[in-house]
Amino acid sequence: MDEYNYQEYPRVLYHGLFAPKGHPFQSAEETEGLDRQGWFDNLALLHKTKCCKADKYDWCLNKPIVYKDSDDKYYCLFHAPKGQKNVSLEAFNEIIIDEIQKIKISNDVNKLKQTCNFDGTIFEGDINFLKKGFSNIFPGINFSNATFNGETDFGSDNDFIIFTGEVFFSDTIFNGKVDFSGVEFSQNAYFFNSNFKDEVDFTLVSIKETVRFEGVDLSKIMFADTDLRKVDFINCTFRKRNGCEILYDESKLYEEENLFTARNWDKTAGFLEIVKEKYNSLRIYDHPDYPEYKQNINKVEKLYRQLKQKGKEEHNEPEVSKWYYKEKEMFRRSSHWRRFLPGITTLYRFSSGYGEEPARAGLMLLFLLVSISLLFGLAGLHSTQPPAIKIQGLKDFSKLLLSTLQYALFERNPDFMPDTLWGKYLKIIARILISLQTVLFALAVRNRFRR
Ligand SMILES: [Zn+2]
Repeated sequence: MDEYNYQEYPRVLYHGLFAPKGHPFQSAEETEGLDRQGWFDNLALLHKTKCCKADKYDWCLNKPIVYKDSDDKYYCLFHAPKGQKNVSLEAFNEIIIDEIQKIKISNDVNKLKQTCNFDGTIFEGDINFLKKGFSNIFPGINFSNATFNGETDFGSDNDFIIFTGEVFFSDTIFNGKVDFSGVEFSQNAYFFNSNFKDEVDFTLVSIKETVRFEGVDLSKIMFADTDLRKVDFINCTFRKRNGCEILYDESKLYEEENLFTARNWDKTAGFLEIVKEKYNSLRIYDHPDYPEYKQNINKVEKLYRQLKQKGKEEHNEPEVSKWYYKEKEMFRRSSHWRRFLPGITTLYRFSSGYGEEPARAGLMLLFLLVSISLLFGLAGLHSTQPPAIKIQGLKDFSKLLLSTLQYALFERNPDFMPDTLWGKYLKIIARILISLQTVLFALAVRNRFRR
């Protein structure tokens, strides 16, 4: 039996020595003489054995066996538990990249579209798929059921992987941060029940067809600069804020704001005397320490707009309403003045929840009717027909309300008219405000029932 049967994996110890759990070998020297101490060494058996996951995943039959567990089950290099690969992390990662390159070259030479299979692979630790001297153009890859045990990088600020085939991440577990930034998916990518335990950078991802997230917790995934019109979210869990579903990108803004406020608090506590003159320049919007803050709000606004547009394309009105509201919220926040002063956007939100909250619009209408009626009581009214009645004060509320309604409905001959000049102005203002609010209310009701 030829000891060097697995020429493809020169770094793996394949001479049939299985380390018991907790004793992975990192080099051939470590295994010298161990067989004489009663360690398992049976090449013939080794070459007859197959990985206990081979039947399930159906791709690792000719891969080197590196580990035997206490139930006498054998594991190939890819399916062996973390720490039991009998190779170093670097060597394991190189083998992974070699596997991908082998498929890529075979595809290029033979004009094939083979997918590289890592179904069920247990990764050893941090892995960066961008490796100097290797192509960043990858074939389709199946990472389903795989477990990534560390930081996983498919992209970075200046380089990224281009997947030329379909990519699968079904039931994949990511135990560390994942960087997809800038990655290009030339064909579909599938994230079914993928489990992201830490932050995921899915920004600036270029999607030629569709990326599908199904049953995924999105609460730690950043999407800025990725076109969400090309992303499907099915049964996904969003982060929540004030009862609204939001993207992680938005909650990153609040993190930044909180940090800013905390810092300013430090400053103001330390330099009380300069607070007054400094206060105006202490806005996060134009603070030099947060140059990208405003830009980031605009990016989140764009993401919500894309989600809204996708909802429109699919005639999914609840989605349209939900994301339209968030889009408007980001627009309002993107300027200091718009956010804190009663501009049009703030009024629009206050009066009807951007035309999406009929209950709020209805309550506002009621509030306007009551408060304006009370103001007419202060202004004073007199009857237009005999008997002559004067209303002053708030005791005749029903007549005040009737008058407000009559003015608002442009009744030709109202029962009462204002006495004073400011009462007459109030009558005009009442007409404008109540008409506007009625329109907003009707709009909000229509938006609620169009679905
Ligand atoms: Zn296997």
